[in-house]
Amino acid sequence: MTIGIDSKKRTAVQNVLESRGIIRRNGHFEYISGEHGTDAVDTNTLYQDPKLLSFIARQLAKRFKGMGIDVVVGLTGSEARSIHLALLAALELPGARIVELHKNGPHDPCSLRANDMKFVKKKRVLLIDDVVRRGETITSAVNALRRHQAQVVGISVICRHVHEAFECDLTSCVYRSLVSLNYDRWTALRCKKHGPCKHGTPLVSVKNLPTAFPMTGK
Ligand SMILES: [Zn+2]
Repeated sequence: MTIGIDSKKRTAVQNVLESRGIIRRNGHFEYISGEHGTDAVDTNTLYQDPKLLSFIARQLAKRFKGMGIDVVVGLTGSEARSIHLALLAALELPGARIVELHKNGPHDPCSLRANDMKFVKKKRVLLIDDVVRRGETITSAVNALRRHQAQVVGISVICRHVHEAFECDLTSCVYRSLVSLNYDRWTALRCKKHGPCKHGTPLVSVKNLPTAFPMTGK
């Protein structure tokens, strides 16, 4: 796996995401999994803000300019919407086509629309996603693309958790994240003993993160 990160640029992006309330740090959050932890990523706010989305998409595309990307792939469905980022990133990569991968449940595999299969075959593909935690979605996406003979040359994501694990082989692929997240997570029970629950810090569900920030430009 190749991880190409420019630490100065990463910090700049991280600063923007934190100041815009997309990355929330040092809080007390309950995740979809039921675990508790100190950091959360508010992708709802991100996907509602076109200017911010466009800025982030440019950063996601930057590393892959000049790499002959034929197709930019984003995810769509009830569990995913990185297609918006893929669309904006593709504008930065002249000649690149946009193809959707569908993901319709938390444990559903990613799939390609039948009509799109021929557009990824033997093509140089850049996969775009927002937050990578356990790597399950990326693994499923890469596997779906490879099943249709795509050459996945790049994976560009906003945030990756440092403890992520991939089940697919990424040796021939440039994998880049704008921000690395490394924060404490506990089961609800362990949080009562060792985490913010112990100190009575109010718990916020990531399903109801309050949006306290106006859109960029207001
Ligand atoms: Zn807790």
